Amino acid sequence: MDSFFLNYAEQSRNKLLALSSLCFSFLLPILATINLFIDREYALAAIQMFCGLYCGYVYCSTKKKAASTYVVLIYAYFTILLGCATSLLSPLETGAVVWMLLSPVLLYALLGEKHGFTASFVSLATHGAILVDKTYPEHVAASSIISNIGLCYIAIWLLTHAYEHNRACAEATLHNLATKDTLTGCLNRLALIHQYEQLTQQTSSQPVSMLILDIDHFKSINDEYGHSCGDKVLQEIGQVLSTLINTDVYRIGGEEFCVLLPRESVTQAARLAEAIRSEIYQHRFLAETKNLHLTLSIGVCACEEHDLSKVLMLADTELYRAKQSGRNQVKVCAQEEMELTPASSY
Ligand code: GH3
Ligand code: MG
Ligand code: MG
Repeated sequence: MDSFFLNYAEQSRNKLLALSSLCFSFLLPILATINLFIDREYALAAIQMFCGLYCGYVYCSTKKKAASTYVVLIYAYFTILLGCATSLLSPLETGAVVWMLLSPVLLYALLGEKHGFTASFVSLATHGAILVDKTYPEHVAASSIISNIGLCYIAIWLLTHAYEHNRACAEATLHNLATKDTLTGCLNRLALIHQYEQLTQQTSSQPVSMLILDIDHFKSINDEYGHSCGDKVLQEIGQVLSTLINTDVYRIGGEEFCVLLPRESVTQAARLAEAIRSEIYQHRFLAETKNLHLTLSIGVCACEEHDLSKVLMLADTELYRAKQSGRNQVKVCAQEEMELTPASSY
């Protein structure tokens, strides 16, 4: 399973950006040529040519990776500029101004709810001012043209806003459901895959380490005190780990947790693992009023591979070594064996 759908909104936004910028980068130079040689609208031709070139740049940048927020923002405001220039410089009778009605749909699709709202407002204000300027006071039907186009714009804007708001809420809920473990509230394996992809892309020059933590003899807790007590212990251990570790904790198996430590060497990760082991050793779990004592075995390794399954296998090997050596200890995948406080000291 990969984490493709966790990036779905961003990827579909990028596809829209690529498609619309590709269309504009072909269409605008053609319109600019017509305006230059036939209609003699030099200002409009210059704006269209400039926007066409920028659209070409945007299209190329979407091919390499997802375009940055600034590139998308500038692109969105260029579309408003283009619409305004077209409305201002072409005669009212051509009906070019009705293209402004596309603004809210395009702007929300590109920018999302917050920036889409601001950009739609800017588009309405600028187009409205141009429309008033072009029609008032000579044009007989000025007020009915302005009110019809204006009201139609506001209706489309409201519908688009409501749609985008509901879509963003549904997406956030689905994202939460897809990435969180319902029992412990920790993140799940899918979230780990997604986070690992992002980390290996962002911090390729920085070290990243991984811990795999497994509760020792957890089955005996289920057997002795019942499954619901085991569940409470899992919830409590999730909370304790989250307070001890300053980053996300993933539950990747029944009683198995994983932690990714960006910018931490394997030595630093081993120290943290030892501190966690020692804290859990001293902690008393109060699941269903029982005072339980638990221990953890921990495997530590450096994330030097792009393939997460290989890294998990390395950390798992260390975990297995910790279990084989008597449990309640930390084992590290490193060239030299690290000096860690022996388990027996606590
Ligand atoms: P070891 O020290 O070798 O890790 O022994 P263990 O007993 O912890 O490991 P084992 O793999 O033998 O057993 C894991 C147990 O975890 C078995 C399974 O019933 C229990 N378990 C897995 N998921 C859950 C869960 O969500 N709730 C509860 N209560 N138990 C679970
Ligand atoms: Mg276990
Ligand atoms: Mg296990």
